[in-house]
Amino acid sequence: MEAIEIQPWLFRVEPLEGESLSLFLGRFRRANELTPTRLGKMAGLGGAIARWEKFRFNPPPSLQQLEALAVVVRVEGDRLVQMLPPAGVGMKMEPPRLCAGCYAKSPCPKIEWQFKTAEGCDRHELNLLSECPSCGARFKIPSVWADGWCQRCFTPLAKMVKWQKPINFIDNLGLR
Ligand SMILES: [Zn+2]
Ligand SMILES: [Zn+2]
Repeated sequence: MEAIEIQPWLFRVEPLEGESLSLFLGRFRRANELTPTRLGKMAGLGGAIARWEKFRFNPPPSLQQLEALAVVVRVEGDRLVQMLPPAGVGMKMEPPRLCAGCYAKSPCPKIEWQFKTAEGCDRHELNLLSECPSCGARFKIPSVWADGWCQRCFTPLAKMVKWQKPINFIDNLGLR
């Protein structure tokens, strides 16, 4: 049936553990085939969606903005707040970084990977990848996360763990 809907019916997308607002918005848009502009209009947020998807949280989203977004994506405002970096923690916008060890367990990019202060994955004590270790292609937002493999050579992200190097905590401590 091709009935004309006044309100578009949107798929609800469940937030994943440790997911950043940037990646959540990307998934929500893809599930609903929305452009950043369209979603921005629906939530009355203008160009904010596109900025947030690029990890641009300066100035940080206001509670009012998050409440407006919460209505459209049907996720609690409090849950959206959890997807933001903690106050005072800078975000590295480009390139997206990856711990393949974490990704193999749960195929969701973690917000911590984009913290400016992140030296590596604390869980695996491995460095973070920002490009495909097999072919050298830089990761891109958000396409790389949508497919789960390198856009150029199709190496699965989860398989990239063998190229990650252990972080030498003693060296790092010596440098600070
Ligand atoms: Zn990890
Ligand atoms: Zn590659």
